[in-house]
Amino acid sequence: KKRVLVIGAVAGGATFASQLRMLDDKIEIIVFEKNATMAFANCGLPYYLGGFVKQQDHLIAATPQSFQKDRNIEVRIQHEVIAIDRDQKKITIQDHIKDTRYDETYDSLVLSPGVTPVVPQIEGLSHANCYTLRAYEDMLKIDEYVEEKPESSVCIVGAGFIGLEMAENFKARGLTVHLVQRAGHVLNMLDVELANTIEDELKEQGIHLYTDTTIDKVDQNGTTLHLANGKIIEADFLLLAVGVKPNKQLAEQSKLDIGETGGVKVNRYMQTNDPSVYAIGDVIETIDFITGSPKRVPLAWVAHRQAYVAARHIASEPIEFKGALGTAICKVFDVTGALLGHNEKSLREKNISFKTVSHESKQHAGYYPGAEKLMIKVHFSPKDGKIYGAQIVGKDGVDKRIDIIATAVSAGLTVFDLQEIEIAYSPVYSSPKDPINMIGYKAMK
Ligand code: FAD
Repeated sequence: KKRVLVIGAVAGGATFASQLRMLDDKIEIIVFEKNATMAFANCGLPYYLGGFVKQQDHLIAATPQSFQKDRNIEVRIQHEVIAIDRDQKKITIQDHIKDTRYDETYDSLVLSPGVTPVVPQIEGLSHANCYTLRAYEDMLKIDEYVEEKPESSVCIVGAGFIGLEMAENFKARGLTVHLVQRAGHVLNMLDVELANTIEDELKEQGIHLYTDTTIDKVDQNGTTLHLANGKIIEADFLLLAVGVKPNKQLAEQSKLDIGETGGVKVNRYMQTNDPSVYAIGDVIETIDFITGSPKRVPLAWVAHRQAYVAARHIASEPIEFKGALGTAICKVFDVTGALLGHNEKSLREKNISFKTVSHESKQHAGYYPGAEKLMIKVHFSPKDGKIYGAQIVGKDGVDKRIDIIATAVSAGLTVFDLQEIEIAYSPVYSSPKDPINMIGYKAMK
């Protein structure tokens, strides 16, 4: 019987195992997870901490018992894979429960070990109560702290997706929230004028925002933080959300190729340079759908899709992974920011010449209650209208517009084609010319 081993039992790993089982009911599948919780919703962790998700177990999609019973897949939690021997086609596992070590052989091996949060170099950081948010257990630790000290103050370091989501969720939990961002504006994947709307919302909601600066030093008391711009913050604890690095140690040790962006290199079927070893999810370097160049896109849709692609290949029904747009969305209190593809900065860095079309209007008929400002910006090729990137910020209707553009880009439509999309209209939802259509008309001009 063919045997497939999987490293990591969350977004990529657990999804891959389920998909493969649906395609093949005979293959033996064993999944190894070093932590105690499998198949939890990483993306839901902030919302449990904010009290929006009431029950912890609502974040857990499956357990080893349910996986065994419903899918005939064995999951060994608290079992960490510590080495890969590609010549012998075997892995070595550290069983953290029994404190023993053993080997297992494979026909195919799938790596989905994810990433580790980066801890920035800050003088005196060891004096502070510091947290990162990645594993389910990280969430439990933060929750315990906040339960014990409900009046406390937090300094979030980094205003990317996780930093922004946590600003809202800590605030909802009643904490005083400081947010420090090294870049000139929050969510630096957005161009500045769209990020400004998010910053205004943060300030309006009482978040203490410090952009274009970093923490230089933490005092011995662990709570006094000195910023590079001279300001001083008092915070009971820190949440570090400055970025992630791929867990590529096993791949490196077993001499699998690493790409130029630092992720494990794979082909369109998710195979590494060893055809028996696949890698998916946050750990890999994938392909930019728009430019075809290597890119890391640590997002859940991408991990799930790659899980399916790897499963199809192992089940001898191959399909290709076409590349990632990096479509992403983030709620910041009452404002939503969404984007895909490239922004001005990344296009300039890549020396790609582009034109930009922007449109600002209401998300639906102005006379219907609840009309709110919606800003859309699309970068495209002046040669043929190919869409290079899109960004949208507003209070309502952001998700649908970014998804329309994602659909258009995936289907190879140009910016000009956007005028022709026949959207569903009623004053409650849109206008006879939707903002998306307006982008097309304006680009044409
Ligand atoms: P993971 O899901 O992280 O799984 C990797 C697993 O491998 C881990 O459980 C780890 O313990 C295990 N592992 C690592 N090494 C070993 C080893 N040697 N042996 C055994 N097990 C090992 N993405 C979105 O698209 N939208 C969102 O809204 C969003 N929100 C997020 C919010 C938070 C707080 C976080 C942390 C992430 C969020 N993401 C979001 C990102 C998304 O969760 C990831 O892209 C996705 O989980 C990647 O899947 P993965 O399988 O590569 O890694």
